[in-house]
Amino acid sequence: MKHFPIFLAVEGKRIVLAGGADAAMAKLRLLMKTEAQLTVIATDIAPEIRNWAAEGKLQIIERAMAPGDVHGAALFYAANEDAAEDARTAAIAQAEGALVNIVDNLADSQFITPAIVDRDPVTVAIGTEGAAPVLARAIKADLEERLPTSLGILARIGKTFRHAVDVLPMGRKRRDFWSAFYFDDGPKAMEEAGKSGVLRALETLLDNHVMSDTKAGHVDLVGAGPGDPELLTLKARNALDKADVVIHDRLVTDEILELARREAIIINAGKTGFGPSMKQEDIDAMLVRHALDGHHVVRLKAGDPTVFGRLDEEVEALEAHQISYRVVPGITAASAAVAGIGQSLTKRGRNAAVRLITGHDTRGYADHDWKALAAPGEVAAIYMGKKAARFIQGRLLMHGADPATPVTIIENASRADQRIVATSLSDLEPTLSKAGLSGPAITFYGLAPRDAEAKALKLREFA
Ligand code: SAH
Repeated sequence: MKHFPIFLAVEGKRIVLAGGADAAMAKLRLLMKTEAQLTVIATDIAPEIRNWAAEGKLQIIERAMAPGDVHGAALFYAANEDAAEDARTAAIAQAEGALVNIVDNLADSQFITPAIVDRDPVTVAIGTEGAAPVLARAIKADLEERLPTSLGILARIGKTFRHAVDVLPMGRKRRDFWSAFYFDDGPKAMEEAGKSGVLRALETLLDNHVMSDTKAGHVDLVGAGPGDPELLTLKARNALDKADVVIHDRLVTDEILELARREAIIINAGKTGFGPSMKQEDIDAMLVRHALDGHHVVRLKAGDPTVFGRLDEEVEALEAHQISYRVVPGITAASAAVAGIGQSLTKRGRNAAVRLITGHDTRGYADHDWKALAAPGEVAAIYMGKKAARFIQGRLLMHGADPATPVTIIENASRADQRIVATSLSDLEPTLSKAGLSGPAITFYGLAPRDAEAKALKLREFA
């Protein structure tokens, strides 16, 4: 180990930084998290740094650094972005007894600044002795994802509660309690009711852990987004990470299922649009059964669970059995699809409203206010609209819609095999059938892809 990691007490101490541009700002953003007194010295000081000074976050001295400037400082950073000036200022600082870091100059630095995951008072410092900054960043990103943002506050509150937890036997039970507090109940209570909620949650949690040895089940109703795993929310990832059981829809992609905890049981409740499907009551019953068994169940739904997701039936079933649950929103297909054609769902001067409609419902093709939709300038994202395309086309034309209204179909939005079919209302069918799309698709009525050239190409392809 060439560098020994320590945590330096800097509360009330001086930290001096020479430099006033980008490199200085990057370091200052970190240093401002401390309770040290910061002084910035440079001939040229960026407006952001001036603003921070005006906010009382640091002091500025606007001239070249001179002997005496670093007196009594604990740390010194040379961030002049100029090797000669860095060397000159570092020499002064070293002579005046500060530990010196020269930005981007490992060899001449007495210390280096680690990559930091900040959940104050919990701080994780990651160092690679300058060997692999990429690795440090990757580890940091991984930890940022895994540690709830409320962890710091929870740690402070948890500290005041430590003695109360002595009622639990040492070992597994106590560990389970703290792990539930820091990673489950605590963050949840924090989100729902703030700090006071956390104290209450701690008490309830302790009661539960004292009283029982089986943990209560829970269901997360999670939006898996349109398919690209990178479009999952952090909450969704965390839920998958903890799941004992994952019950998913047909449209949820394998890449996403792979993120589930290795030991998790994965159940496909796949409902094909018109084909055979697991009955909704059976899915409800399955959710309830696994939760009552004490499992952490993730009900994983494509897109956002609140959009054509039959969420309410499942929530009602859980409520009927007093099972705790949480809804984790996801990116709905319309959002992903509209991004895929470079458009916006709403646009000033074009459409101030957008409808999310379904092509079919439990009774068959769904009816809508066709007259209103047929008016000029309307925009609708049609879910489950492939089979109903001819029906929708007929209804809209019958109610006076302009046959030239643009219609764009996006299949497999956000995925590697995304396809775009741009057409018009009059040509929607047979264009759509000819395109032979087999994946999930959103039909945008009233929107054309931003790229007109691509549109012309696609038209030719499917004409
Ligand atoms: N809850 C989901 C919608 C479920 S209904 C959501 O918010 O997105 C199923 C329909 O969603 C499909 O028939 C299709 O119209 C649409 N859909 C889901 N994923 C899609 C994707 N990746 N690309 C295009 N459409 C998609």
